[in-house]
Amino acid sequence: MKEQGNKGYLTLYQIIASFPVSSGRIALLVIDVQNCFLPTGTLPVTDGDQVIPIINDIRREYRDLFSLVVFSQDWHCVDHVSFASQHNGMKAFDTTLLQYDEQGNLCNSSSQCDVKYNITQALWPDHCVKNTTDAEFAVNITKENSDIIVRKGYHCEIDSYSAFFDNGGFSQTELGAKLKEEKIETVIITGLALDYCVYYTAKDAKKLGYNVYVVQDATRGVSYATSVDAITDMDSRGIHMVQSSQLKAIMDGLTSSGNILQISGFSWNKIVFVFIGIYLYLLVPL
Ligand SMILES: [Zn+2]
Repeated sequence: MKEQGNKGYLTLYQIIASFPVSSGRIALLVIDVQNCFLPTGTLPVTDGDQVIPIINDIRREYRDLFSLVVFSQDWHCVDHVSFASQHNGMKAFDTTLLQYDEQGNLCNSSSQCDVKYNITQALWPDHCVKNTTDAEFAVNITKENSDIIVRKGYHCEIDSYSAFFDNGGFSQTELGAKLKEEKIETVIITGLALDYCVYYTAKDAKKLGYNVYVVQDATRGVSYATSVDAITDMDSRGIHMVQSSQLKAIMDGLTSSGNILQISGFSWNKIVFVFIGIYLYLLVPL
């Protein structure tokens, strides 16, 4: 009887070991797929509209595997500091140096300011001004009521490429808290533009400890040179640069390796505990 029990416990151990042990979940991040960044927008990204069917396909194909879908939205004041129009003698795509004090307040030439941070700022055409059609999401991107919208760049005096933090790291959006709350472990990043907002979001996600995938064909860059640099840097940081055609194998790998326990509200944890309870009930003599 004792022998049978030991044998039973060994089998139980093997069965439990075969179950996933962590509660990894996946979020799809759709970065700045807004009218402003489409070919007809105020800051057009070449072929930016071509990411839309690819992102829609990813969403349709793997919908049961995403615990969370997040849309970031560039959302600027009409006189935002990143606009070339706000800097005398400067034009779009020039760069300038912005200076900030310890609290993240913008220093300017006319005010007393103890400069603590220097931030190189690329200057852009006026774009994605809040509450305009230009700042709205592309009409043909698939959106659902359960999607989370994270706005960024709404502080007038600092830009925000990343969907997590502004460019000075002075403030953060609600994205980090949302991912934590949903117990997300893997983020799959798509959208615009590869060399700025996708790049900075991916870097921050990696720094925060997430397993990060950037779906390259579901992104487009502002320029070839900066896109190549961004890809090289992301690669060196351990961010996975992948194509949408590889996602099937990646998703299969994530789901079968035990990184995903909860799919569409289905919890393996509960199944494991019920199973252990039944097993112990049958094995342990009363
Ligand atoms: Zn912007």
